[in-house]
Amino acid sequence: MSLHTNKPQSGESKTVQERTCNKCGWVAFGVSRGYARLQVKTFNEYYDALPVDKQQSYYGGRKASIEDYESCHCGNSYINFRPAVDADSPIGCTLNPILLPRISHEPPSASFVSKWREE
Ligand SMILES: [Zn+2]
Repeated sequence: MSLHTNKPQSGESKTVQERTCNKCGWVAFGVSRGYARLQVKTFNEYYDALPVDKQQSYYGGRKASIEDYESCHCGNSYINFRPAVDADSPIGCTLNPILLPRISHEPPSASFVSKWREE
């Protein structure tokens, strides 16, 4: 599965749309449904090419699915997340992907607003 590390890049704090779970507080990076489908397809092609014993020992005999992107480790739905702010996760944390809501009426993330105010 793909992972993402939220290390800062050239002075910018958050370059991807990070989302915070409203139930447990974990931060994830938001992905589109199309991106998630492609990741699932790519992983499962790799998985299917592995011998059965390796499928079992590396991945517990479990393929990827779009449902992996639809909920937090705590079971909370991707719908019940909010935009992350810098204080939500320390620099260097490994983040997992979560689906972005299909339609978003949210204001720009707090990190974008604070960056804008500094200029
Ligand atoms: Zn959660």
